[in-house]
Amino acid sequence: ASREYAAACVEAIAAARESLHGAEERLGRMDAIAGDGDHGRGMVRGVDAAAAAASDAVGQGAGAGDVLAAAGDAWADKAGGTSGVLWGAGLRAFGETVGNASAPEAAVLAAAVTAFADRIVQLGKAEIGDKTMVDALLPFASTFGHAVAGGADPGEAWQDAAREAACAAEATADLLPLKGRARPLAEKSLGTPDPGATSLAMVFAVMGPHFTA
Ligand code: ADP
Ligand code: MG
Ligand code: MG
Repeated sequence: ASREYAAACVEAIAAARESLHGAEERLGRMDAIAGDGDHGRGMVRGVDAAAAAASDAVGQGAGAGDVLAAAGDAWADKAGGTSGVLWGAGLRAFGETVGNASAPEAAVLAAAVTAFADRIVQLGKAEIGDKTMVDALLPFASTFGHAVAGGADPGEAWQDAAREAACAAEATADLLPLKGRARPLAEKSLGTPDPGATSLAMVFAVMGPHFTA
């Protein structure tokens, strides 16, 4: 089961890769409104490197946790930019919690999501309402955690949490950015959702079926 779960993790990253390639231009345009316009490019560079590192690791017989950690390190290394560092570190923390032993129980998966979120908050120091990816991530983590703790099916819980994250990402349109490169031109971003929150909700939605399979 551990080898199968490592393969599922590779598929999760492949799904993220496909959706980020499709959204590259749109994410770039969103980031160009108040930021520097490179969010689509950065996410694509990061996820491409992560996908390559994940398949290498699986080819060498690595377990799921090591596959995800290698993917995270490659992402942080190659993406450039704030979001790349945070995604990479988050993915490594997720992998460390999932571990190599076997496909994770729902509670372990919830702990891995929490580890992903905690690492990103620790490094980026953003709070809810600062108009960052954290505004989509924390609602995702709490919705998934509560549903799983209540005995929900992990696959359904993940998709409910992904819908919460997508709504929360949309709702950042009304906020002024208080962290990151968009801050100096904060007013210009009113009416546009945060690019990092938008991409996070998108990526989590497509990864779910693989992580919860
Ligand atoms: P950069 O801002 O370095 O060009 P990106 O454009 O790839 O990097 O990513 C921008 C996104 O990063 C923002 O939309 C926001 O979601 C996220 N972000 C920026 N600063 C932080 C932070 N301190 N904590 C969490 N997320 C952040
Ligand atoms: Mg940028
Ligand atoms: Mg940049």
